[in-house]
Amino acid sequence: AKTRGASSIQFFSANDDEAAARRHALERDLASALANDQLWLAFQPFLNLGSDRICGFEALLRWQHPTLGAIPPAEFIPIAEETGLIHGIGHWAAKTACLAAAQWPRDLRVSVNLSAVQLKDKALLDGIAMALAEAGLEPRRLEVEITESVLISDFEGAISLLQSLSFLSITVALDDFGTGFSSLTYLRKLPLSRLKIDRSFVLDMLTDADCAAIVRSLIELAHELRIKVTAEGVETPEQLDYLRRVRCDEAQGYLIGKPIRIDNIHGTAAESFGQ
Ligand code: C2E
Ligand code: CA
Ligand code: CA
Ligand code: CA
Repeated sequence: AKTRGASSIQFFSANDDEAAARRHALERDLASALANDQLWLAFQPFLNLGSDRICGFEALLRWQHPTLGAIPPAEFIPIAEETGLIHGIGHWAAKTACLAAAQWPRDLRVSVNLSAVQLKDKALLDGIAMALAEAGLEPRRLEVEITESVLISDFEGAISLLQSLSFLSITVALDDFGTGFSSLTYLRKLPLSRLKIDRSFVLDMLTDADCAAIVRSLIELAHELRIKVTAEGVETPEQLDYLRRVRCDEAQGYLIGKPIRIDNIHGTAAESFGQ
């Protein structure tokens, strides 16, 4: 809706109408998407730059809508958060990711994204513990990825939850680092195992000297704090070479592998990653 002039006449363009209708349809259909088997997990590999081997996969949610096709997570996850559906969907994602990883070679970890809404849920810890137990997956093979938005709203609550997770040997990664209001306080006060440097830095680091300086310094700082670093969005061999030279620990991106369906690692692309 747009407001024009002093008369405050509101009018909706066809585009606004369409967007509202789509949003409404997604909201309605997301509620039954899980039950209707429309959600699935894609897995994207991490490359360890020391050993040059695939060391794990990140689980990324996918929604195949029966009439609207593939809906990007950037569109449906906010809807899931606002409607509270994220709790059920998030639990399903954690459980499914653990079940998948339990079939992989034992040196591979699985990373699951947690939204800020989930971190406020008192039942989250039990849900994750249950997912691990049902899958028979060792907790050290599970990593959770959180973004800074989690920390802004309830820092103390988030710290205590993350401490409980790391007490169970589940590791914690800070995702999209460098975007938003990344505070050095987070590095000092959170039980972090890993920083994921946002894709925007990787994109510019070879053409922008200041950006390269930030990447190098972030890696050094993280290492001083015994935190590993994963670079996101690596798309070219030149970017990968640079990250190796500045001692980044892991890389993720289309160059290494796009998110793919892995029903069973045996006989899939995952197996050909040299495991
Ligand atoms: P994210 O956690 O930062 O995930 C990385 C996104 O970058 C993914 O998009 C991935 O497909 C994309 N990507 C990976 N490598 C490259 C690359 O080399 N180039 C480019 N251009 N893109 C790359 P995707 O799958 O669309 O997910 C978007 C966001 O949705 C995720 O960002 C995450 O915040 C959220 N999301 C996905 N799955 C889940 C989930 O299970 N739970 C929650 N809470 N959020 C999720
Ligand atoms: Ca992530
Ligand atoms: Ca990210
Ligand atoms: Ca992101």
